[in-house]
Amino acid sequence: MSDQYDPQQIEPKWQAAWEKQGLHRTREEPGRPKFYCLEMFPYPSGDVHVGHVRNYTIGDLVARYHRMRGFNVLYPMGFDAFGQPAEGAAVKRNTHPAAWTYECIERMRKQFHRLGNSYDWDREVVTCDPEYYRWNQWLFLKFLERGLAYRAKAPVNWCPACEFVLSDEEAQGGKCWRCDGPVTKEDREQWWFKITDYADRLLDDLEQLAEWPERVRVMQANWIGRSEGVEFELEVSGSEEKIRVFTTRIDTIFGVTYVVLAPEHELVDRLVTDDGLRRKVEAYRAEVAVKTNVERMAEEAKGGLRLAVEAINPANGQPVPIFIADYVLLGYGTGAIMAVPAHDQRDFEFAHAHGLPVRVVIQPQGEPLDPATMESAHVGEGVQVNSGEFDGLPNTAAQTKIAEWLEARGVGRRRINYRLRDWLVSRQRYWGTPIPIVYCDKCGIAPVPESDLPVVLPPDLPYTATGSILPQAESFVNTACPKCGAPARRETDTMAQWIESCWYFLRYADPHNEEMPFSREAADRWLPVDQYIGGIEHAVLHLLYSRFFTRVLYDLRLIGFEEPFSRLFTQGMLLKDGATMSKSRGNVVGPDEVIDEFGADALRTYILFISPPEQEADWRQGGIEGICRFLNRAWRAVAGQADIFNREWRGSVAEAQGAAAISLRRKTHQTVSRVTHDIDRWHFNTAVSAMMELANAMTEANAGGVRGEMVAAYSEACESLALLLAPFAPHLAEELWERLGNTVSVHLAEWPRWEEALTREEEVTVVIQVNGKLRDRLNVVRGTPREELRRLALDSSRVKAHVEGKSVRNVVVVPDRLVNIVAG
Ligand SMILES: [Zn+2]
Ligand SMILES: [Zn+2]
Repeated sequence: MSDQYDPQQIEPKWQAAWEKQGLHRTREEPGRPKFYCLEMFPYPSGDVHVGHVRNYTIGDLVARYHRMRGFNVLYPMGFDAFGQPAEGAAVKRNTHPAAWTYECIERMRKQFHRLGNSYDWDREVVTCDPEYYRWNQWLFLKFLERGLAYRAKAPVNWCPACEFVLSDEEAQGGKCWRCDGPVTKEDREQWWFKITDYADRLLDDLEQLAEWPERVRVMQANWIGRSEGVEFELEVSGSEEKIRVFTTRIDTIFGVTYVVLAPEHELVDRLVTDDGLRRKVEAYRAEVAVKTNVERMAEEAKGGLRLAVEAINPANGQPVPIFIADYVLLGYGTGAIMAVPAHDQRDFEFAHAHGLPVRVVIQPQGEPLDPATMESAHVGEGVQVNSGEFDGLPNTAAQTKIAEWLEARGVGRRRINYRLRDWLVSRQRYWGTPIPIVYCDKCGIAPVPESDLPVVLPPDLPYTATGSILPQAESFVNTACPKCGAPARRETDTMAQWIESCWYFLRYADPHNEEMPFSREAADRWLPVDQYIGGIEHAVLHLLYSRFFTRVLYDLRLIGFEEPFSRLFTQGMLLKDGATMSKSRGNVVGPDEVIDEFGADALRTYILFISPPEQEADWRQGGIEGICRFLNRAWRAVAGQADIFNREWRGSVAEAQGAAAISLRRKTHQTVSRVTHDIDRWHFNTAVSAMMELANAMTEANAGGVRGEMVAAYSEACESLALLLAPFAPHLAEELWERLGNTVSVHLAEWPRWEEALTREEEVTVVIQVNGKLRDRLNVVRGTPREELRRLALDSSRVKAHVEGKSVRNVVVVPDRLVNIVAG
C-alpha cells in the first residue's frame, strides 16, 4: 500500500469496486423519505469541458449528501440525443447521425465514470432509442386526441443560416438560439402544440415555485405576458374597413392623435388606392424588411409613412391620421395601435418627428402638463382631463369606467391578451422522433395506431444531406392508410427535440416499462423532482415546455402532480481567463486532462471551492494546486495516522479534558456543524474552507505524536473528516474510510452529528478595573481582540458609573485577562 496520496491509483480502484457492488443502484426504500436529484441531461456533443462538469459535480454532491442524511435517493443520468447538431457533425465527418451520437454518448459515459459521479446507470435514458421515442409518439397521439396537437399554416420563424424552423421560444429577440443569427418569418404548414390553452395555469402557478430562482419565474411570467386591456375598432372614414387595436391604457383613449399599422398589416393594401402612394409604401416596406424585430424595437420611433385616409376615434368622434411605421410589429397584439403621444414615450418620439399634436388627458397631481413644453411622455398616474364625462376621475378608476362605457356602446370589449403563442413542434429534419401520422387522399390526417408504434427512423439511409432526407426515403414514406388501407404517405417531419426532454424525468422513475411510458405509481412515488440543476438559458425553453407537458399529463390522469420540479438551481458559468470556454477561443479545459494531472477528487473539490455555485467563476491552475495540497494534508492527517486510530474512541472521548484534546474536539464539532449548514444553504466553497481548517488543526495536533487522551479526540477528528469529505472527494474519503478499518462503504455511512455544546467557543473571564479597582467581570470568547475588549469595558454600565464626570486618560488591555481604565 502506498503511503502517498495517489488519486491515479485509488480513483479507478474505487470506481471499479462501486460498480461491482452496485453501490449507486437506486434502492426502493419506502420507509425513508424520497429525494430525487437531477441535472438537466446533456446533449451528447462529445466535447464536455469543466464548465459543464460544474452542474454534474453539484448534483453528485447533493445526491451523496442526501443519501448520508438518510434519504432514499434517485439520481439518474441519460442523454438528450436527438437534434440538429448531430446531423451537422455527421455531414462533416461523413458518418451517420446515429453512429456519431452513440460514439459521443460512450465517450461521455466514460467521463462521468472517471468523475466518480454516483448515477444509477441502470435507469439511463437515451432519447434517440426507439424504446424511448415510441413513447414520445404515444404521447403525441394523446395530445392529438385531446386537440392539443394540430396542423396549420402560419408564419413561422426561419433561420436562413441553420435552414431550420424555430419555435418562438427558440427565436427570442428575433435571434436564432443556436447560431445567434437573425430570424425571418415564412408561411409554412406545421404541427403545433396548444400551449396557449395552459397560459393561465402556467402563469398563476409560478407563485407556488417559491424555491425557484426569482429570475426564472420573472422570465416565464414575461414570456407568457398576460395583459388585461380593451380591444376596440376604429372606423376608417369613407371606407367599410375597420382597424382593430388592443390597449392596456384605455384611460388614454381621448388622447389619441394618430393610429399606426405595422407596414406588413393586411389592411394596408386595401387602404392605399393611389398609385404614387402605393409605390412609396412598397419602398418603405423594402426598407423595413431587412431589419430584425429587435432592431425595430430598439431604434428610436421615427420612420413611418402617412396614408391618405383617417380613422375615427370612437371615444370622441375625432378623425386622426393613419400611419404605417416599423415600430409597430405584426406579431404583437393586433399589429395596429392607437397612438397617445402625451402618455407613451415611443408615440411621443414619433409625434415629434412627424409634427403631430400631443394631447394631455391625464394630469399628474400638482404639476400640470403643457404639451408645448413636455420633454417626455407622462406614463404615470393622475387625473383625467380632456376626457369628456370622465374628467376629474383618477385615471385608475377611469380604466374601468371607460371600458364599461365602450362596452355598453358596443364599441369594444375587455379581454386578456397573451404574448405566448402556440408551440411550433415539427422540424424538417431527419434526426428526431418521427411524427406518427399518415396522410391519405381519402381520409386526410390519419394517426398511426398505438399498436404500430414505434414508427422507426429508417437507419440505413446514406446520410449526406443537410436538410431532411426522410422525404426521399421511399420505403419509409410509402405506407398503407391505417384507416382505409389505401396507399398513403407518412409524415416526414420529426419532432422538435424539446419534446423528448419534456418528460424524460418521468421515464427515470420507471425506465424499463414496456407497457407505458411510465406507471403512475412510480411517477407519483418519485416525482416531482426534489432538486433540479441546470442552466438559466432554459428558462423559457425546456423549463416552460416541461411545465406545460406535466400539466397535460396531469389532465390525462397519467400523473398526480402538476409541477415537475419543486426546487430549481441555476449554476453560474465557469470562465477561463474571464471568457466563456469555447473551441473557437481555444480556452477549453477538458475534464480528462485535469483528472490525468490532479485526479477527479481535486477537480470536483476545486469546482465546489472556486466560488458560491450560483456565481460566475474563473478557472485557475493555481487554484486546483491549492486544493491538491489540502487533499494531501487530509491524507496525511488521516491515512498517515491510521495506526494510532482507535475505533473505540466513542467510549473514552468524553473523558479527554486536557486543553489540547478539548481544542481539537471543538474544531471537529465546529467543522461538522459548519459543513452541514453550508451544504444546506449551498455554500459549498465555505464548507471546503471549514474542512481545510480541520485538516490544519489535525496536522498541528499530531506534530509531536498523538498519545494518551489525545488518541480518542484525534480518532474522532479522523472519522469526521473522512465522512465530511465523502460528498466532495468520494474516492479519497472511501480510501481513508477503509484505512480506518471500515468494511462497509463510507457512502453508506450516516452523516456525522455534532454536539452543540462543543461547537461553542471557549469562554474566559476578563476582569475590568477602574484606576486599579475591580469594577466588573466580562465573559468573552478566548482570543477576543484588544479593541473589542476596550469597547466592551467602556460600554459596561458599572464602569460608566465610576468614570462618570471624569475623562479617560488611558486603557490598558491584557487579552483574555484584564482591562484597566485610568480616569481622572
Ligand atoms: Zn440559426
Ligand atoms: Zn385512408
